[in-house]
Amino acid sequence: MSDTLVVNEIYLSLQGESTFAGLPCIFIRLTACDLRCSYCDTAYAFTEGKKKPLPEILAEVKRLAKPFSNPQLSTLNSQLPLVELTGGEPLLQKNSLPLMESLCDDGFTVLIETGGAHDISKIDPRVRRIVDLKCPSSGEVERNLFTNIAHLKSGDEIKFVIGTIEDYDWAKGQIATHNLGKICPLLFSWVHPLAPEQQNKSLKRVPAGQTPVSRRELAEKIIADALSVRFQIQQHKIIWPPEQRGV
Ligand code: SF4
Repeated sequence: MSDTLVVNEIYLSLQGESTFAGLPCIFIRLTACDLRCSYCDTAYAFTEGKKKPLPEILAEVKRLAKPFSNPQLSTLNSQLPLVELTGGEPLLQKNSLPLMESLCDDGFTVLIETGGAHDISKIDPRVRRIVDLKCPSSGEVERNLFTNIAHLKSGDEIKFVIGTIEDYDWAKGQIATHNLGKICPLLFSWVHPLAPEQQNKSLKRVPAGQTPVSRRELAEKIIADALSVRFQIQQHKIIWPPEQRGV
């Protein structure tokens, strides 16, 4: 029997959060996550999904990518669309590793977004790894696997999702303690409040006593502290309704 993955959705949209933001990207959202971050906007991927053989997933990616093969419209230096594995937590399913290898072999620029609680060292080195360091307001700060830091390369990215002043101070402290700015680009992503449809009872609560930070406050703190990080908002939530799936 062929290797399979449980897939929540595969769709073509624009990459919304990273140094690749704004570029066409095919997302492969895998089912299941063992964290329950307070701000999670994809709780529907915790359980909803369908088992698919790897060749079927690859065929779907190639079908979605086909319109970009027009030589008159293609770009000079990079093959688009990108392909990103996301979730849920894509590393919970071991067949995510051979899928990424096959996508790289096929010439795609492959990204993975991982919550940072699982070993990234077995991922194909051609893949650009976007690794979260979970801040205190997520409720999952104890799950950070700090041994991952030693495996990061300059092509990878570290993402801090920031919803409170405490998150900001914690992130700033981690950057200094681990000298993260010398490793790879750092992303400070503002927590977009969840729409009522996105609330899920299983999510952790923001620990008591934390002070929410607005996106403007976050931007101004970065400027005032002269932090060498990239501020970002989830652009797909500005373009489309925040609760819309498949974008
Ligand atoms: S790591 Fe957190 S934000 Fe990401 S899917 Fe899991 S619960 Fe949601």
